[in-house]
Amino acid sequence: MAYDFDLFVIGAGSGGVRAARFAAGFGAKVAVAESRYLGGTCVNVGCVPKKLLVYGAHVADELEQAAGFGWTLEEGHFDWGTLIANKNREIERLNGIYRNLLVNSGVTLLQGHARLTGAHEVEVEGQRYSAEHILIATGGWPQVPDIPGKELAITSNEAFYLKELPRRVLVVGGGYIAVEFAGIFQGLGADTTLLYRGDLFLRGFDGSVRTHLKEELQKRGLDLQFNADIQRIDQQADGSLKATLKDGRELVADCVFYATGRRPMLDNLGLENTGVELDDRGFIRVDDQYQTTEPSIIAIGDVIGRVQLTPVALAEGMAVARRLFKPEQYRPVDYQNIPTAVFSQPPIGTVGLTEEQALEAGHKVQIFESRFRAMKLTLTDIQEKTLMKLVVDAETDKVLGCHMVGSDAGEIIQGLGVALKAGATKQQFDETIGVHPTAAEEFVTMRTATR
Ligand code: FAD
Ligand code: NDP
Repeated sequence: MAYDFDLFVIGAGSGGVRAARFAAGFGAKVAVAESRYLGGTCVNVGCVPKKLLVYGAHVADELEQAAGFGWTLEEGHFDWGTLIANKNREIERLNGIYRNLLVNSGVTLLQGHARLTGAHEVEVEGQRYSAEHILIATGGWPQVPDIPGKELAITSNEAFYLKELPRRVLVVGGGYIAVEFAGIFQGLGADTTLLYRGDLFLRGFDGSVRTHLKEELQKRGLDLQFNADIQRIDQQADGSLKATLKDGRELVADCVFYATGRRPMLDNLGLENTGVELDDRGFIRVDDQYQTTEPSIIAIGDVIGRVQLTPVALAEGMAVARRLFKPEQYRPVDYQNIPTAVFSQPPIGTVGLTEEQALEAGHKVQIFESRFRAMKLTLTDIQEKTLMKLVVDAETDKVLGCHMVGSDAGEIIQGLGVALKAGATKQQFDETIGVHPTAAEEFVTMRTATR
């Protein structure tokens, strides 16, 4: 049967654009439908604007450090409107780049909501299209618990477009987004409290990292409240929001920001017209080749709920394009040793196993841990400490995990990701010459095991 397209991609985000571009480059006839914004979450309401706001907040640190280096600055003034307007301009520029990338690679771009009407058929704006393969790359959406007053709260989607920087913010959650936005709001001058329901935030990260970041955030004056959760939110007569906690306490703020995870974006997608099934967490069920339970339909990225990171969605998109249209180049995505950063202030960089995971997997581990005050801070009064940690297999000498909290952690961890992928041993770390003077050299000079 002749189809309109070889591949129809739903969603022009990180994964969808990558799959579409490469499939078209391999000679396939490809269409992409996008209902909101080109580039998806990452470009519009995720990684990119978030990092720009983090840079904005970090300027406060630079200003604080300046005096130690002999600079006398007039009192600084921050204008949220300028930052948001400049950020918006940059995002528009990136939207244009994404459009060109798709159009120039021969992809047919359809603007509008796509709905599956069959195993090989999609409807966009009343028009039906057939395709041999359909790729669902619709991403995710913030999830706010169902509490009274939830409509008064905002999520990351709205935070990027706030008209003003709120004076007092309650951030709810203990994952990437909560920690990053707490740093943004606080760095830019808002009185910020982070509420997390458990004992310690960033579940799944290395224990030393979690404790170290907690201490550093407290040093910066962030109000961290663990074992705390909101029961209801009420608007008060003066417009402020009153959050009543489950333990009965009441907190007042101008903004309540929820970062309590993301659900798959399946709204009005028409899955009921296909054989696509969901897993028990509600994400699209796929096999190790991203094949759904409907043979002609594939799914990648946040909507399958594996690893919700842009580079992972990109890798999955690439794998799908190759498997379908350039099988001789197909390589499965390697989910081991994915480096990642949390752009908190200070940031976290991490790759490989945490100490807890290594022990649980049965490794005998040697731990190398170092805490030090970065050279840049020695001329200032700032007492922030950097943490670096290596988790090593005591029997094979293989480095199983590298973890850092401190300036440029994300930049530093990328290179270590290559080392771990190559299976580097601690001895090879030790034999690597350091770059001096840097903080990063500490990763190759930790000689004595801490435990
Ligand atoms: P998305 O990028 O979400 O793209 C899905 C696209 O599909 C969207 O454009 C959507 O409009 C469209 N769509 C949905 N339904 C339909 C439909 N029915 N019809 C047509 N179009 C549809 N990751 C990192 O690696 N580093 C970071 O620093 C980072 N920071 C983040 C910060 C925030 C605040 C958030 C929310 C996420 C962040 N992420 C980060 C995660 C990253 O953004 C996602 O993992 C990534 O965007 C997932 O890509 P995707 O292709 O699966 O989906
Ligand atoms: P996460 O899944 O990382 O964290 C969700 C947090 O909310 C957890 O601390 C969780 O607690 C808590 N939580 C969940 N449900 C509730 C509830 N009902 N009440 C109170 N607390 C709750 O989600 P995020 O929203 O922070 O981010 C989504 C994903 O986006 C991340 O996992 C990451 O993959 C990606 N991302 C990546 C970034 C980066 O690379 N720098 C930056 C931002 C996002 P508990 O641990 O107890 O379950």
